[in-house]
Amino acid sequence: MNDSNRKLLLLFDIDGTLIRIKNNIIRRVITDALISCGVEIPSINRERFAGRTDRDIFLSLPGVTPEMFSSVRQQYELLIEDRLSSDDIEVLPGVHTVLSYFQQCGYSLGLITGNCQNAAYCKLREAGLNHYFQTGAFGDDHTDRNLLPALARKAAGEHFGRQFLPDQTVIIGDTPNDIRCAQFDKSRIIAVSTGTYSYSELQRHKPDLLLSSLEDPESWFDAFQRNRA
Ligand SMILES: [Mg+2]
Repeated sequence: MNDSNRKLLLLFDIDGTLIRIKNNIIRRVITDALISCGVEIPSINRERFAGRTDRDIFLSLPGVTPEMFSSVRQQYELLIEDRLSSDDIEVLPGVHTVLSYFQQCGYSLGLITGNCQNAAYCKLREAGLNHYFQTGAFGDDHTDRNLLPALARKAAGEHFGRQFLPDQTVIIGDTPNDIRCAQFDKSRIIAVSTGTYSYSELQRHKPDLLLSSLEDPESWFDAFQRNRA
């Protein structure tokens, strides 16, 4: 293991990057969490959630006030814990391989996700991926995803006992918002088209590297590292 690899922080998005949740279960959970908090919403099926923080999603829904956020989040997390099972989750192609490859190489791993923290770890636990991650920035930390990389770096610094700079940070995500937040932060971004955005849609946002899956990391990650500006 190369100890200098520990200086590189790899921050993973969850939905569309590591896993896909089947059966529309998240929309049902959000709807029921809102109803249990007294919000009447007939349907949230037209809302696009990919790439947004949970805080942004909840606060954008009609009838949800900033004062209600913590009770909505609490209900949502209780319902996710209660209802989500491994049968609802598909681990995306190459994810087990890429995470164990990065772990064996000694890179520092973390999360950068729009999910609230408890929901994030619940999804990863049911997917069998939680043992890779002990730190990150989450959708209850801030509404604005652009500010999550700096928060993730701060949390990782405390967890790993070393400071990470933007040019020592790589974000791996599946949406234009993931690309934008990396560009805002001046960290690097690997985009992967396993979520709801196509390869050509992501290409327009000019990620540093664009993949159709995370499979076979030996074939792209070393080259990505060598080509850094
Ligand atoms: Mg995503």
